[in-house]
Amino acid sequence: MALLSITDITARFGGFRALDSVSLEVGDGELVGLIGTNGAGKSTLFSVATGYIPAGSGSVVFQGEDITNVPVHQRVRRGLARTFQVPREFSHMTVFDNMMVAARDQRGEKLAALVFSRHAIRQEEERLAERVREVMAFLNLARVSDELAGKLSGGQKKLLEIGRLLMLEPKCILLDEPFAGVNPVLIEQLCDRIVELNKRGIAVLIIEHNLAELARIVPRLYAMDRGRVIASGTPDAVLADQGVREAYMGG
Ligand code: ADP
Ligand code: MG
Repeated sequence: MALLSITDITARFGGFRALDSVSLEVGDGELVGLIGTNGAGKSTLFSVATGYIPAGSGSVVFQGEDITNVPVHQRVRRGLARTFQVPREFSHMTVFDNMMVAARDQRGEKLAALVFSRHAIRQEEERLAERVREVMAFLNLARVSDELAGKLSGGQKKLLEIGRLLMLEPKCILLDEPFAGVNPVLIEQLCDRIVELNKRGIAVLIIEHNLAELARIVPRLYAMDRGRVIASGTPDAVLADQGVREAYMGG
């Protein structure tokens, strides 16, 4: 059984059909790519899967449970979380604090339950800070821990975005164009970290424009065009697909 099953999803913006009966699956621990030209509906599909945009029809099932109508924060709590195409860091806060805030959001209920014990709160905060330090070390962000997030390079912001996601202790992450605007050296590093996360058991679905980079790291790909999935399979098979070639040629 798949970890995440998206079935026959349709989504409209006014009269415009952005998603037209889209189906896609991510298996437990799988690393899957999603390609497609601009406006194909990739980011919209992420928004429907994670609850930012309601599905017009169709279903989203995660770990065997229908979550089609479950709000964003409850999907996150179940272990399904995304990044955005444009990073959403708090630019006036330090990198460290950005990560702490992401973790506290997730722990809100637990912290509230500790409200009468300062000692317990301090312990929980220390535990979170330790986890932040681990994630920063993993992403090579420890050097910039005390920098304001707004001052980071484009690539470092993408790493921070992934760091904030990891503070949620997800089972499945959806990454929206993690390599866009990132210099080639940092792309290598990002690829390496994404593969390592996947090896540790996190399922990953990556939207990417950079086909060459994506094809190197994912065993399986989907291609979308104008609101539909037009091909899926190994990177070689998808990139050789006539419909995919035509979509990319602007045909
Ligand atoms: P992709 O991520 O594949 O480039 P998107 O999912 O962002 O594509 O967009 C798919 C289509 O839906 C595009 O034509 C886009 O203009 C349109 N669209 C996306 N978001 C909105 C919105 N909030 N309101 C109206 N149209 C939108
Ligand atoms: Mg997009």
